[in-house]
Formats: sequence, structure tokens, C-alpha cells
Amino acid sequence: MPNMPSMYEELLRLKSLAGEELAAISQVGELELFRVKYLGRKGEFTFVLRQLGQAPPEERPRLGQLANEIKQELEIAFAEREARLIEADAGTIKVTLDLTLPGRTIPFGKLHPVTQVMDAVCAIFEGLGFAVAEGPDVEVDFYNFEALNIPAHHPARAMHDTFYISDSLLLRTHTSPMQARIMEKEQPPLRVIAPGKVYRCDSDITHTPMFHQVEGFLVDRHISFADLKGVLSVFITRMFAQDTPIRFRPSFFPFTEPSAEVDIGCVLCGGKGCRVCKHTGWLEILGAGMIDPEVFKKVGYDPEEYSGFAFGLGIERIAMLKYGITDIRLFYENDLRFLSQF
Ligand SMILES: [Zn+2]
Repeated sequence: MPNMPSMYEELLRLKSLAGEELAAISQVGELELFRVKYLGRKGEFTFVLRQLGQAPPEERPRLGQLANEIKQELEIAFAEREARLIEADAGTIKVTLDLTLPGRTIPFGKLHPVTQVMDAVCAIFEGLGFAVAEGPDVEVDFYNFEALNIPAHHPARAMHDTFYISDSLLLRTHTSPMQARIMEKEQPPLRVIAPGKVYRCDSDITHTPMFHQVEGFLVDRHISFADLKGVLSVFITRMFAQDTPIRFRPSFFPFTEPSAEVDIGCVLCGGKGCRVCKHTGWLEILGAGMIDPEVFKKVGYDPEEYSGFAFGLGIERIAMLKYGITDIRLFYENDLRFLSQF
């Protein structure tokens, strides 16, 4: 049981100990530990004050007063020390590590929607046994036009809005030149798709000066329009939905005869008619046809022996229909809010 002098001494000992410890604190972070140890509800001074009841009654007021005075002094000293340390701290850069924070996620890049659709288109045709071939973006006039039965001054050239580099060099306006380039070198049977960039001097909400096409062709003996229909129907049902309505519409291309444009039932309105399908219920999706005998003659194939079909489709067009995008330019603005949706 503590007697009066020992409690008195204990209070003075605590006062000097606390004073020394407070003076030694150099970091704001250490202050809290000190506060809890000496000034908290379970701290040293509280402990001593609780024992007051055991001191002789006549000494209790003096001891109580002393304890309260020391505590108040210490609180004032503590507040000053805290203010000084915070002030000093503000001038330095703090490196803190909060282990309770969630980790920083590293954003993963994604393939561009055009690349995704291009890959999907190629995968479908590769599944049907087509090989993939790539050719140059800068093409000679011969492969882009002449070999495809579009001689100089042919009116079809006017449809192409060509970027010319020189009289005989241009940026290819379609991926069809690969037909001539490959047939020139190889003998049938051939099943090839040629994906890549193409260029036309045109720009609005459905046209960009550069866009992507996939050209495909198949050459063998006894190939008929039925084969063309079969291959493209498989492609469309795999690319869109199994029950997508398909129609073949007569058309004209200089390098195919007969030629057709292929439509699918509008994916946006389900065929009822809307702004995108111009209230027809149909959307044009690709051009195709039986390879013109004139094209075979230019590469040295006998049109009596071989026949084949060719088709060309625009990747952006398919991506727009598949995802309901109404402005083609969104693909090239590189807005992450747009790109991250795919
Ligand atoms: Zn529609």
C-alpha cells in the first residue's frame, strides 16, 4: 500500500520521465504513443490518481492538486511539441505506405475493335480452309486496275477515288489486287483471303480515307455460284446470328461476272425498317461474284478449265453493324471511352 511520500515521489518521477520522453520525440507519428502512455484514460497519471484513495485523507487534496497540475503542464507541453513537429513535417515530403489500401490496377490494353473484327472474319474463313495472304499498300496500277479488267479510262475507275503517288503507283483502293498477284504465281486449286488496309479519297460518317477490307477468292474446277452462296452464307451466319436473313442482289463489278451484292436482314430493327437500313429492312454487307474470264486470261488460266468466285467486304462496315456504331470516324479518334467498350 503506497504511503504519502512514495506517491509524491512517484508523481515527480513521472513528471521528469514524461518530460524527457516528450523532448526526445522527433516524429509526429510517435506522439500518439506518448499520449496514450501518459495522458490517456489508461495512462500512468490516471493510474496514480486512482490510487489517491489509498493515501491518508489529509494528504489527498495536496496530492490530487499536484497530480492535476503536472498533468496540465504535460498536456500543454504535449500540444506545443505536436504543433512544432507538424510544422517541421510540412516542409518535408512524406513517404507513407498504407498497406490497407487496395493495390493499383494496371490497365490492360485491348485489341482495337477493327482488329478484333478482322481477326474474327479471318478465323471464319480459315476454318473453311482459306489461306491468308497479305500484299503491299502501295500498289502498281496494273494489279489494282488493269489485271482486274479495269483498263485506263474505264468508267469504274471513277468509283474508286484513288490516291495516286505517280502515274503508275497508287495506294490500293481495294485488296482485290491480291487476286491477280497470287493467281499469277500459283496454280489452282486456290482458296485465299487477303485482309488489309485500303485507301480512298473520301470522308464522312460512313467513309474514312483509310479503311480495312478482306478480299477472298476460290478457284478450282467446277466452281459454281452455289459454292459462292454456300461459303458466304456460312460466313454471315457465323459472323452475325444463325438465323440472319440473307439475300443476293444482282450488281456489277468489272472483275466478276455475274456479280452480286449481298444483304443481310437489318440487325438493328430486325427487318422492320429503320434509319440505318433506310427503311428497307436490309443492309448491304459485301460484294461478290464469279471471277470474270478476262481476269483468268490475264494471269494465264484457261477459263474453260477453271472457274471461281471472289468477294470483298469492309471490316469497319461489319464492325459498325455488329456493334450498332453509327459514325465510322469513332474507330480512328482513339477515344478510350469508346475503345474500352470492346
Ligand atoms: Zn433497320
